[in-house]
Amino acid sequence: AVNWVEGNRVVDVPTEPFKGRLLINGKWQASSDGGQLSRVSPAYDLVVAEYAKASVADTEAAIQAAQHAFEQGPWSTISGAERAKLLNQVADQMMIRQQELAVLEVLESGKPISQARDEVAWAAELWRYAAVSARSMHGDSHNQLGQDMLAMVIREPIGVVSIITPWNFPLLIVSQKLPFALAAGCTCVVKPSELTSATTLVLGEILQTVGLPAGVVNMVVGEGPEIGPTLTTHPMVDMVSFTGSTGVGKAISAAAAGTLKKVSLELGGKNPQIVFPDCDWEAAVDAVVFGIYFNAGECCNSGSRILVHESIADEFTKAVIAKSRQVPVGDPLCEATKVGAIISADHLQKVTDYIQGAEQAGAKVSLGGQAQGSDGFYMAPTVLTDVTPEMAVANEEIFGPVLSVLTFSDLEEAIEIANNCLFGLSAGVWSANIDNCLAIGRRVKAGTVWLNTWMSGYPELSFGGYKESGQGRELGKYGIEEFTELKTIQMHM
Ligand code: NAD
Repeated sequence: AVNWVEGNRVVDVPTEPFKGRLLINGKWQASSDGGQLSRVSPAYDLVVAEYAKASVADTEAAIQAAQHAFEQGPWSTISGAERAKLLNQVADQMMIRQQELAVLEVLESGKPISQARDEVAWAAELWRYAAVSARSMHGDSHNQLGQDMLAMVIREPIGVVSIITPWNFPLLIVSQKLPFALAAGCTCVVKPSELTSATTLVLGEILQTVGLPAGVVNMVVGEGPEIGPTLTTHPMVDMVSFTGSTGVGKAISAAAAGTLKKVSLELGGKNPQIVFPDCDWEAAVDAVVFGIYFNAGECCNSGSRILVHESIADEFTKAVIAKSRQVPVGDPLCEATKVGAIISADHLQKVTDYIQGAEQAGAKVSLGGQAQGSDGFYMAPTVLTDVTPEMAVANEEIFGPVLSVLTFSDLEEAIEIANNCLFGLSAGVWSANIDNCLAIGRRVKAGTVWLNTWMSGYPELSFGGYKESGQGRELGKYGIEEFTELKTIQMHM
């Protein structure tokens, strides 16, 4: 019953793999120990990228280059206006290379081409917003301390930042961090996910094209468990900015504690959308369907559980299932595709294991539940009903196109179910009653709460998680502030 898409592709699948090297101190280099890494596409049965794989020694060299660049300047000492000029040029170049970046993203991640193009555009927008931040960030002055005292609290760049990113939105997530770190005057070592490193390395080329000084941004491709500990424990690293799973986030937090470096973590989610009978039905159904199938559900902000008022649960779920059947699944290089391939065979297995576990626990597979296609790793849009709050599929991040439907009887119960979960990234409510909306907005523990909308995002607004969804905030005025230290200077006159 899947709305399967194949046929005309926007571009042919390239015959040559992308070749990536390490960017250390302004030079593209092979691995010092000859290590290699290749990426087989999750959608097409071919190697789409080959990389030099960084060793620990390469990673240390990258950190030293960043530290040298920070100490020597001029990046750490030039004006915000000068930094802004370069950040805007990066955004221009990203848009010039939008199609190339989007295709690389599709080949490595399996996401649909239309969503990959949007991701590039959104990432470019973040570079532009960071450029504004570079010019507008400022500290405070204090002249109320007595006639003979004057003080100021200034913001300084924190120093060398290790940036570690996941595979689901490679270009977007590096762009939530890197331009803001650069805007603050930091220097960086970037480690993209070993599954999707290509677009980050193209970004490295762009940084060189626009004239970023050598050593300000270094890039290492490699396995997390192998080079991750160097990036998170090295004494020259002042901060780790990480997006990824909660398990790895906890390990990084523990590793970084040895040198008390600052850690910012953007982690997993199990985000509820709470649906009341008085909602705009069509908008709510659309948002639920978009919320779970966008990026094949491989999205930290995925609306992966819905809490539906018991009086409308059957009818609302039927409407969601009917709409889910229409979602085009298949070849991610086709323009019409809305759900592409899952990142890997292992991950597809993990998603199907969750579905089987749910059935054994008493849930019902009301739609989908099966892998699809023969070539790549595809999962049918799946709706699980009769889900109860204690089940794994109501609490754990599946990271696939699998919606868990729960019910509630009143506002208090909805808030209780929403909060009774280790994650707290985002939440949403659908209701015409402003009291319901605001009660949920104020009382649900989540970094973002959407009232009658879902997954709208603006660079001006903060993003991050409560509880095990993370610590620290990205974007908005907080985006650049995360990468700074406060210094108080007091003067006696
Ligand atoms: P992951 O945690 O497996 O890997 C993330 C990155 O960490 C990769 O680059 C990996 O190589 C690296 N890594 C692995 N072990 C490491 C170690 N010991 N030390 C240092 N680095 C290490 O996550 P993933 O599977 O790539 O991504 C999916 C996860 O990311 C999901 O849980 C998702 O919710 C989360 N995510 C969160 C956000 C957010 O903003 N909150 C956004 C996107 C994804």
